[in-house]
Amino acid sequence: MFDNLSDRLGNVFDKLKGRGALSESDVREAMREVRIALLEADVALPVVRRFIDAVTEKAIGSEVLKSVTPGQQVVKIVDDELVDMLGGTEVEGLNLNAKPPVVIMMVGLQGSGKTTTTAKLGKLLREKHGKKAMMASLDVNRPAAQEQLKVLGEQVDVATLPIVPGQQPVDIARRAMESAKLQAADVLLLDTAGRLHVDEALMAEMKAINAVSAPTEVLLVVDSLTGQDAVNVAQSFTGEVPLTGVVLTRMDGDARGGAALSMRYVTGKPIKFAGTGEKLDAIEAFDPKRVAGRILG
Ligand code: GDP
Repeated sequence: MFDNLSDRLGNVFDKLKGRGALSESDVREAMREVRIALLEADVALPVVRRFIDAVTEKAIGSEVLKSVTPGQQVVKIVDDELVDMLGGTEVEGLNLNAKPPVVIMMVGLQGSGKTTTTAKLGKLLREKHGKKAMMASLDVNRPAAQEQLKVLGEQVDVATLPIVPGQQPVDIARRAMESAKLQAADVLLLDTAGRLHVDEALMAEMKAINAVSAPTEVLLVVDSLTGQDAVNVAQSFTGEVPLTGVVLTRMDGDARGGAALSMRYVTGKPIKFAGTGEKLDAIEAFDPKRVAGRILG
């Protein structure tokens, strides 16, 4: 995860730490290199600017340069700012504080990993939170989408709503809620349809489903490998449906990190989970401190 970025930053910091004393221009030179590393990692430009300004100001305008270990202190400042950029020191878990069945609505583009993530969360809720979860696919666009969730449900031992051919998404959502109530499920996961691009029809459908199901969580699933595009997708959704968080998938293959590093600042939405593989237990609560630690090695 983030190997390229990590290597690049490692080189800059090794140079800094190797020096006994640091001048202001040493810091500025190092920040120029950090800037390039972040841009190559596909971090959004305003985020890079803010980051470099914050680190430079803290490193130069304080006692850091006069201290005995200036290099290490600059690295500590970078670490703190990275954590901030990734969402702060809190791990933002799922909000399950609502009258059951708590509805979690999953949204995102086709191929982002939405259905897989729905099943991963179902498994996590059952195993780690001891919750009775239920899942329903509202995807009537992609052939076999509903069957895919059914198969995954069997694999993770989480019930799925029986498929009624021809039923439309909003009606499936209503039926899912009735069924979740009858079966005394704690949590209902709604896997909505994706599209290849954000379009009006998709947003209208998401709004209608949101209105009938009053979800406690609306989680946007985006592919971290798409970098700034993932952030653009998140921005498009933000104005339309009340997102409560983001799940970044394919973090296992992401050598750059641009989506993770830009998401919070650009969208204001927390990254709640990271998908780290195809297996159904390959999901982690997103912990900014741990992720920053991985980037800085
Ligand atoms: P959907 O169209 O958004 O529902 O996407 P799917 O859930 O069908 O996922 C598309 C593909 O991405 C599948 O082959 C998944 O196994 C794969 N996938 C999903 N999440 C991850 C992840 O975190 N890491 C990796 N490596 N693959 C993933």
